[in-house]
Amino acid sequence: MTDENHEIVSQLRDTIHKVSEEFPGEYWREKDRNRGYPTEFVNRLTELGLLASLIPEEYGGSGLPISIGSEIMKAIHEFGCNAAACHAQMYTMGTVLRHGSQEQKAQYLPGIASGDLRLQAFGVTEPTAGTDTTSISTTALRHGDGYVVNGQKIWTSRAEHSDLMLLLARTTPKEEVKKRSDGLSVFLIDIRDAKNNGMTIKPIRTMINHSTTEIFFDDMHIPASSLIGEEGKGFRYILSGMNAERILIAAECVGDARWFIKKATDYARERVVFGRPIGQNQGIQFPIARAYAQTEAAEAILDKACRSYEAGETAGTYPNLAKLLASEASWAAADTCMQTFGGFAVAEEYDIERKFREARLYQIAPISTNLILSYLGEHELGLPRSY
Ligand SMILES: Cc1cc2nc3c(=O)[nH]c(=O)nc-3n(C[C@H](O)[C@H](O)[C@H](O)COP(=O)(O)OP(=O)(O)OC[C@H]3O[C@@H](n4cnc5c(N)ncnc54)[C@H](O)[C@@H]3O)c2cc1C
Repeated sequence: MTDENHEIVSQLRDTIHKVSEEFPGEYWREKDRNRGYPTEFVNRLTELGLLASLIPEEYGGSGLPISIGSEIMKAIHEFGCNAAACHAQMYTMGTVLRHGSQEQKAQYLPGIASGDLRLQAFGVTEPTAGTDTTSISTTALRHGDGYVVNGQKIWTSRAEHSDLMLLLARTTPKEEVKKRSDGLSVFLIDIRDAKNNGMTIKPIRTMINHSTTEIFFDDMHIPASSLIGEEGKGFRYILSGMNAERILIAAECVGDARWFIKKATDYARERVVFGRPIGQNQGIQFPIARAYAQTEAAEAILDKACRSYEAGETAGTYPNLAKLLASEASWAAADTCMQTFGGFAVAEEYDIERKFREARLYQIAPISTNLILSYLGEHELGLPRSY
């Protein structure tokens, strides 16, 4: 990172630290209890332009590299907040930026940069296909001057708090294409129109406050201008956006790990049992030290992932490694923090049980650990494809 970027990161960390003081534990606890959307927090990040940091300046963003986007996410989590309600606003636009037409970019990116338009929902996962994305059954079939969409998505997060969503749908049946990954297309859906026109959004109550939903499409008509890029090439457009997502979520995990490690070390120094601080016991100290080591290692790989992304590398190796290692580091730190606090860990007021639940998600989403391991086995180690 250049000296100038170091300076930017340092200023951003100060800003985010101040924001975190406006949104302390009670704020997040209340949202968690009532499964409320953290509108005030998201608005604050929007006002500060933080969610537009990766959008080029010509469209009203700050045009910063992903290494700085990653520092923003890291700081939000390290200072006890949660970016899950809005992180997709930072990266989902990448699909429009890289693959959209000039008209689409001019129409949408300035509004996304200012926050007037929220593009923070993407519908890829379906209940029956699961991780096997090329087996999705939502279809978008040509009809007149547009398409008609039918099908269902699941785990489409933030759809109720988004104006636009990216949708992956099959435009040519699997049997009629050479490769399973062909015949899938990406559409930019205007949720405001679609809700009165065949789209139904149903929230799913989950163990974490994640505003996730299932979405049903019943003869939803969309204009042909919703198509992003070329028809049938959508799978690779979605893949190209996944590296940024994995990097930014890995950064959140590193931030979470730091939050847990700080909580655990502070408590281990202060809590006295049997006449000495519990942190003097190796049984308490070593797991914290191990989680610290894991976090530092994950962060080093995350830096490598940022550098490879910024150099234009499209392979998933480092983003996948970063996501794998960072999600494991945050989980190790979460578990260690729980154990360090003993009984107090489960009391809501310490925020640990909530953060613990939140940290667990990243072993599953946006890609599960097994699927990363199979990617590494196949693409890095030359082992036979396991599925
Ligand atoms: C809270 C939340 C938010 C989400 N947000 C979004 C979103 O906004 N948009 C979106 O499109 N999706 C979203 N997802 C979906 C998420 O990306 C998937 O849940 C995740 O990729 C795992 O897919 P699955 O749940 O279908 O599991 P499945 O594919 O059914 O897999 C179940 C288990 O089997 C394992 N498995 C499957 N196949 C293999 C194999 N070949 N080898 C080894 N193990 C295997 C998996 O690793 C996993 O552990 C979200 C999920 C959650 C829980």
